[in-house]
Amino acid sequence: MEKSQALRYRIAPLEMTPSEFRKAGYRLIDQVAELLCTLPERPVAPNESPATLRALLGSHSLPEQGRDASTLLDEAANLLFDHSVFNGHPRFMGFITSSATPIGALGEMLSAAVNPNVGSSLLAPMATEIEAQVVRWIAEMIGYPPDCGGLLVSGGNMANCVCLLAARKAKASWDVRTSGMSAEKSHRLRVYTSSETHTWVQKATDMFGLGTDSIRWIPADEALRMDAVALREQIQADREAGDLPFLVIGTAGTVSTGAVDPLPELAAICREYGLWFHVDGAYGALAAILLDDEKSAIPPDLKGIREADSVAVDPHKWLYAPLEAGCVFVRTPEFLRDAFSYHPPYYPCDEDATGSLNYYEYGPQNSRGFRALKIWLALRQAGREGYAGMISDDIKLAQELYRVVERQTELQALTQDLSITTFRYVPPDLMPGSQESEGYLNVLNAELLTRLQKSGEAFLSNAVVRGAFVLRACIVNFRTSLEDIEALPGIVIRIGREADAAIRPGKQKDQERNIR
Ligand SMILES: *Cc1c(COP(=O)(O)O)cnc(C)c1O
Repeated sequence: MEKSQALRYRIAPLEMTPSEFRKAGYRLIDQVAELLCTLPERPVAPNESPATLRALLGSHSLPEQGRDASTLLDEAANLLFDHSVFNGHPRFMGFITSSATPIGALGEMLSAAVNPNVGSSLLAPMATEIEAQVVRWIAEMIGYPPDCGGLLVSGGNMANCVCLLAARKAKASWDVRTSGMSAEKSHRLRVYTSSETHTWVQKATDMFGLGTDSIRWIPADEALRMDAVALREQIQADREAGDLPFLVIGTAGTVSTGAVDPLPELAAICREYGLWFHVDGAYGALAAILLDDEKSAIPPDLKGIREADSVAVDPHKWLYAPLEAGCVFVRTPEFLRDAFSYHPPYYPCDEDATGSLNYYEYGPQNSRGFRALKIWLALRQAGREGYAGMISDDIKLAQELYRVVERQTELQALTQDLSITTFRYVPPDLMPGSQESEGYLNVLNAELLTRLQKSGEAFLSNAVVRGAFVLRACIVNFRTSLEDIEALPGIVIRIGREADAAIRPGKQKDQERNIR
């Protein structure tokens, strides 16, 4: 074919014919369906070194020639099915990473196929409205005013960052968007949060020029909740010293133990001192869906979310959305626009009389993917009732775990809040409490955790509770059942004994003596 003819009948290397696409797509769907139904039989996590995985991929350069799409999808599926940590496995209870909704997986394919750019409603008319509906619905679930401003971002860190920027713009007495943090008083801005807050606050104060020294770490009480009395004293002292308190961050469900700060009290302090009240509800805010359920026994302080100026929630945690999705809520939508909007000449799509909504004006991103679809589909599949049931079941299972752990003499239960339970293995011949035994218990439980993760039998992560390294189960997993919970103590005790025998100084000798 002549060159001009080749361009006239162009077949690009990335194009797939309808029949190729169907064939590859149906095959992939079959493989994914097989993965989902065999999850419980698979190890939760592989036990392989990065070097092994790199060797599988090879170190050659990008191949010069392309290959058949269907074969490549087969290869990719095999690589991922055989060498992944499955957070959709019923026995995955680590970190705060949920099992992902199957409808979300299908939704991701649909959204990638249509590929709307949800930066502006000109480019994504329906997707923009679906995102707005998702924001409203999640606001309703957490008891936040549904006419708030909000948008989806990549996760909790980014959602919290966006709220911090909205707070800074709203509260700085100078034009912080123009003169930035070089204004004379800017180094005196102060952020208040508890020592249990997630590290996003360090990243955010660092990235946006406040510096981590701007953070006032307020101590937490015995229940690991922010001490409101200490907060008030610190704000008062800072004001007297000429500092500029502007933001208090309360957490609805701390990352380590699921503690809920005294949010209504924090809100009252913020009102009194004219500070922005932000709630980091990345993990726990959605438990507020159970506030009206008298039997649920969730912390009533979750009611304080309603009073926040801004809230961050992670749909990829307790809404079980496939990664990534974080959600920003700001009570007064104009505060988001005040913090992020510019009107460049190359985007002639300002909001107009028709009420069009351009998300690029409400957050840091310009081009934006259609994160809302996977959430929208799942919200409608389960409904409010379905979600309340799943969240409540996750909490009940975590509470049950605490009870079954308490019954074991070799296990010590430490905390139980929302759907997080922490505990540790304590060998029967060891008395916890002394500095020496506590030091050893930390080492032992760290070793136990590594062995457990490598075993593929179940996946937990850790927390440090009042200086103790403890095992931590966080259930944001609609596939976990009572059977998985009841199996856990036995697994942990067996691996705990093995770890103890392997690492305790003198222990092996004891055992050898016993055998003789
Ligand atoms: C998970 C979490 C974050 C961070 O969210 P990502 O989605 O991982 O970015 C922040 N705060 C809390 C309380 C969290 O649980």
